[in-house]
Amino acid sequence: MKTDFDAVVIGAGFAGMYMLHRLRGLGFTARVIEAGKGVGGTWYWNRYPGARCDVESVQYSYQFSPELEQDWEWTERYATQPEILKYANHVADRFDLRRDIQFETRVSRATFDERDNVWLVETDRGERILARFVITAMGCLSSPNTPKIEGLADFAGPTWHTGNWPHEGVDFTGKTVGVIGTGSSAIQSIPIIAQQASHLTVFQRTANYTIPAHNRPLDPAYVAEVKAHYREMRKRAKTLPAGIDLRVNNVPAIETPEEERLRQYQERWDYGGLGFMASFNDLLLNDESNRTAADFVREKIREIVKDPKTAEILSPTNIIGCKRLCVDTGYWATFNRPNVTLVDIRDEAIERITPTGARARGQDYTFDSLVLATGFDAMTGALLKVDIRGRGGVTLKEKWGEGPKTYLGLTVVGFPNLFTITGPGSPSVLTNMLPSIEQHADWIADCLAALRDKGVSLIEPVEKAEAFWAGEVGGAANITLRSSCSSWYVGANIPGKPRVFMPYIGGLPAYIERCEAVVAGGYEGFALA
Ligand code: FAD
Ligand code: NAP
Repeated sequence: MKTDFDAVVIGAGFAGMYMLHRLRGLGFTARVIEAGKGVGGTWYWNRYPGARCDVESVQYSYQFSPELEQDWEWTERYATQPEILKYANHVADRFDLRRDIQFETRVSRATFDERDNVWLVETDRGERILARFVITAMGCLSSPNTPKIEGLADFAGPTWHTGNWPHEGVDFTGKTVGVIGTGSSAIQSIPIIAQQASHLTVFQRTANYTIPAHNRPLDPAYVAEVKAHYREMRKRAKTLPAGIDLRVNNVPAIETPEEERLRQYQERWDYGGLGFMASFNDLLLNDESNRTAADFVREKIREIVKDPKTAEILSPTNIIGCKRLCVDTGYWATFNRPNVTLVDIRDEAIERITPTGARARGQDYTFDSLVLATGFDAMTGALLKVDIRGRGGVTLKEKWGEGPKTYLGLTVVGFPNLFTITGPGSPSVLTNMLPSIEQHADWIADCLAALRDKGVSLIEPVEKAEAFWAGEVGGAANITLRSSCSSWYVGANIPGKPRVFMPYIGGLPAYIERCEAVVAGGYEGFALA
C-alpha cells in the first residue's frame, strides 16, 4: 500500500530532530509532527527563571557532527534555557530540518492497520497520515503534572506551571508569589523568584538534596581543550553508567575511613554538580554508605540556613540520589532571606487553594501569583495521552495497565513498526540524555536500513524477549536503593499510576552492549516479516 511517508516522528525536541536527520540521510521520507511552535522540546517549554542544564553544557550536546561540536560555543558551565534553545534552533537551521517538521500540530491517535501493515496517524488538525513506521520522540518529561488540589481553579491571580512557562516571561517584581514543589525546577527557580518578589511562600512536601552548581562562564582555554579532545571525552562517557564523563572514585564509602570520606565529599561539594554521587561506588547500593553522603549534605544545610527550625524542615530524610539529585545556585541560602517563608506540608497536604492564596496546616497564606513546580507524568505520560492502537485494536494504555513493558525501551509487543525513543525500559532519564537519544535514534535508523536491505516490511518484538527485558529492568532496579523511594521514576507522583521502576538502571554501557548484541544476532528477540 502506498504511504504518505516512510516514517512519522512525533516530537521535535532533540530526539525528533536527530531522528529526522538520520532518516533523511538514509533516503527515507519522514514527517515530524510537533505540538509547539518551534523545535527544542524541553527547552522550548521550560522557560521558568533559572532553567539550565544539570549536565555540563560541553557534554549536554550532540556528538554526531564533529563540525557542529567545533563551531558551537557554549558560554557557561551549565547553559541557560535560552542558550540551549538557541542551540536547538541552530541545529535545525544548520541541517535544514524545519522543512519536514509540521509545528503547532498534536498527534491525537495512531492506529496500526493489520491488513496493510501501515500506521494511520491522526492529528488535532484533522489530518490522516499513512506511514510504514511511527517513531515517538515525545519526551520523558514533557507531560506537565498539575496536581488536583481543591480550589485551584478559583485562584484569582495567574497560575504558571514551570513546564509550560509563558514565552514572554514573567516579571515577579513587587509581587507576592507561592511556589508548590521543591524538585529540580523549583530549586532552580526559587532563588531567582525570591530576588524579584516582595514575598515568596514555598510549599514543601518532600525535602530534597541539592549540590551547588558553581556555575561560571567557560574559560576559552578550557573550551579549546575540550574541543581538541572531544572524541576521547565522548568515548570515556560511554563507558560510565550515566554516560557523563566525570571522575568516579571506584571505592566503597563503607570501607573508607571517616576523615577521607569527608575529604572526598568536601572536594566534590566544592567542585559542584552531579559528580557528588560518584564520590564512592556504593552510595546507591548500601544504606549505610548512602547515609554518610546524606549526613554530609544535611550538615551543609545546617551550616548555611541560619534558622535551625527551617534548616531541619529543609533537611531531607530519604536516600540521597534516590530522587534525581538537584544542582543549584544559592538554594539553601535563599531561605535566610526575610521575604521567604517555608511551609512544611509533608504530613498535611495543602487543604485548598483559595482565591487569594492557599490554606495549609490550618493557616491562610496569601499571594497574588502561583507557580506549580510540580513536575511531570514521566516516561509514559506523553505516550499515553495519544490514543495508540496496535494489533486487535488494543491500546497502549491497556497494554501498560499494570506498568510499561517494552523490549529494550524501544519497541512493544503488539505494536509492530512502532519505535519509542527513550521509552520506559531504557536508561534515558538516568543518563546524560543527549548521547542516549543519539544511541536510540542511531539504532532505529540502522534497523530501518537493515529491514529495507533484507526486504522486510514488519518488525515486532516477541513476547519472550519483552518478558526477558522486563526481568532485566526489574532485576537491575531491585539492586539499587533508587527504587526504594517515592519518586517519579516509579510513578509515585501521579495518583493511581502503577508503581514500577520505569527506566533501566543497569547503566548505559551494559545497555549499549545489549542493543548491539541484538543486532549482531540478526535482530534477536524480534519477529521480522
Ligand atoms: P522533549 O524535549 O521533551 O521533546 C518532546 C517533544 O514532543 C515536545 O516538543 C512536545 O511538544 C512534543 N510532543 C509530545 N507529545 C506530542 C504529540 N502528541 N504530538 C505532537 N508533539 C508532541 N536531561 C539531561 O540529560 N540533562 C539536563 O541537564 C536536563 N535538564 C532538564 C531540565 C528540565 C527543566 C527538564 C524538564 C528536563 C531536563 N532533562 C535533562 C531531560 C530532557 O527532557 C532531555 O535532556 C531532552 O531534552 C529530551 O529530549 P526529547 O526530544 O526526547 O524530548
Ligand atoms: P519533580 O522533581 O517531580 O518535583 C515536583 C515537586 O512538586 C516535588 O517536590 C513534589 O513533591 C511536588 N509536588 C507534586 N505534587 C504536589 C502536590 N500535590 N502537593 C505538593 N507538592 C507536590 O519535578 P521537576 O522539579 O519539574 O523535575 C522533574 C525532572 O526534570 C527532574 O528530576 C530532572 O530530571 C528534570 N529537570 C532537570 C533540571 C536541571 O537541573 N537541569 C531542572 C528541572 C527539571 P514530592 O517530592 O513529595 O512528590
